[in-house]
Amino acid sequence: MTSENPSETDPPEYSRRKFLQTAGATLGAPLTLGTAYRSDRSFEDRDEDGIPDELERSATFDRRLEELFGTAFEGLDPERKDLLVDVRYVGDTSIDERVSTYLEALFRDNGIHMQWLEYPDHYDEEWFLEEYGYNVRRTLWSRSSFYHEEIESDLKDVAFQLVVVPGKPESPYEGAVYSPWINHLEGGRYDGWTNGMNVGNRAVMGSSEIAREQARVALHEIAHLVLCHDDDPSNDGVMGTNEEIDLTAAEWAQMRSGLDAIRDTTGYDVALRRCLWTEQTSGSCFGCQ
Ligand SMILES: [Zn+2]
Repeated sequence: MTSENPSETDPPEYSRRKFLQTAGATLGAPLTLGTAYRSDRSFEDRDEDGIPDELERSATFDRRLEELFGTAFEGLDPERKDLLVDVRYVGDTSIDERVSTYLEALFRDNGIHMQWLEYPDHYDEEWFLEEYGYNVRRTLWSRSSFYHEEIESDLKDVAFQLVVVPGKPESPYEGAVYSPWINHLEGGRYDGWTNGMNVGNRAVMGSSEIAREQARVALHEIAHLVLCHDDDPSNDGVMGTNEEIDLTAAEWAQMRSGLDAIRDTTGYDVALRRCLWTEQTSGSCFGCQ
């Protein structure tokens, strides 16, 4: 399924955007979630999953998510660690159902009730490439990025956004996305091309036809919500040597206690993942390969 062009020149999509904005406006609090909760010391989140208890008990917010994601949304529970992954597809990219099923089960086995929520419309590929190209900065954090322009305010800071893009069509970096940082910091090792990039509560990944590769990159980028790369050779998970599509027991413990990173805690509009600068100064791998 391909979608309408979400620009103002396309009436049906524009109307949908307007509708979503109106629907969001009726929610009141969620629209200002980012700023309101950062400064609010009485923010209550007993399960420490980054989603305010108040929102987890809100019938209005539940209905909003049900309308958007259908039956994939299973409700929220202030006693349970929920992690909402809001997946956005560009063009005819997709992630194999076996992959999403596997990842949901994996997270749940490790104490995190992850919900894989696929956004109902696919974004038009031609439009996306024209606006953002394969560039991770323009996709995730520049002032006029895809994230800033397309992600609804009430879903930011509540769900992790995973944008799946077709990626570079030509070899040798087929399916990859481009990061000017990686180009600079890795000294041209990969010419700036990478499988994916995470900046805190959002990530972009290039698509792949291979289910194992989809699972590996998706888990890696979602895990960056909390975790850094690990160069310990005994780490056979996706933050280490990639032999297993899994995290280590210690990493899962870190994930469970770090879910509040779903909120942009930097205080700035640009969210950078927690370990970005540590990794840079320690000289460990910067890109996600
Ligand atoms: Zn990485």
